[in-house]
Amino acid sequence: MKKWYAVIGDPIAHSLSPFMHDTWFQENGIDASFLPIHVEPSELKEACESLQLLGAGGFNVTLPHKQAIIPFLDGIDEAASEMNAVNTVVRNGKNFKGSNTDGDGFVQSLLTADPRTDDKILLVGAGGAARGIAFALDRAGFSDVTITNRTFRRAEELAEETASESMTKSDAEQNLGGFDIIIQTTSVGLAEDEALPISLENAKTGALAVDIVYNPIDTPFLKKAEEKGCRTLNGVGMFVYQGAIGFEKWTGIKPDTEKMIKVITEKLGGNYVNR
Ligand code: NAP
Repeated sequence: MKKWYAVIGDPIAHSLSPFMHDTWFQENGIDASFLPIHVEPSELKEACESLQLLGAGGFNVTLPHKQAIIPFLDGIDEAASEMNAVNTVVRNGKNFKGSNTDGDGFVQSLLTADPRTDDKILLVGAGGAARGIAFALDRAGFSDVTITNRTFRRAEELAEETASESMTKSDAEQNLGGFDIIIQTTSVGLAEDEALPISLENAKTGALAVDIVYNPIDTPFLKKAEEKGCRTLNGVGMFVYQGAIGFEKWTGIKPDTEKMIKVITEKLGGNYVNR
């Protein structure tokens, strides 16, 4: 029987996950399809039951359901409980188990820029994605991470949980020249005219600036970082790698991530640069 998978969210029409997974199913000769399903918050429980009943092999969860889905699943793994959020659900018999591949997807993308584990890293933001990234950086052996956030208390709490440092936004801006890698994880940047979540005036030339927002591909943060002579890494790699980890959980197959990064970069109107 043909297998099927899905992504649920509200809104969902913009999601590139159906394109990415359908392409990988075809490339790997798997008879399956991947559906975008619009689910409003009030319908989440029924949606989860329907996915179960109708035999979905697994599904992705996107905004705003990443936390709210947890009570409707049969369990979550360590990555999902660290983040208190689920982005990938895997079927095991009749059970749905939640996982989170965002943090590990981010680290795989970061590794393509050849960082050193003793690089001084500034993580900007303390929301769901920042949580996954902070824990994944720790697991990957990055030993010098400082967290800053608009709401400083959240930066302090996350820093405590991950044995990192925390810094107020104004201190981070003043001391920015000391950081080798600056990671932008806030939701700022989705709109072209938004102010930056942190001033890059004091960024050092050659530092690596990373934005996890990938649409638009050339965010105001990355544009400013380029002006300051920083190297840049956009969010497409994280998106593709988090999807690839999920694809492997569902099918046991590692898909072609390099080709997908190139295709999605071009789809979003960017120029692909092969590092
Ligand atoms: P979230 O949990 O809602 O966290 C939002 C973060 O942004 C918080 O740190 C928040 O600070 C900060 N923030 C929001 N508005 C701000 C502003 N005007 N100025 C300064 N800081 C502001 O969201 P999330 O799930 O972490 O997602 C964050 C972004 O990552 C989204 O754009 C999402 O699309 C992107 N993302 C990308 C990928 C990928 O694959 N590339 C994966 C996951 C997420 P406060 O604590 O002060 O509110």
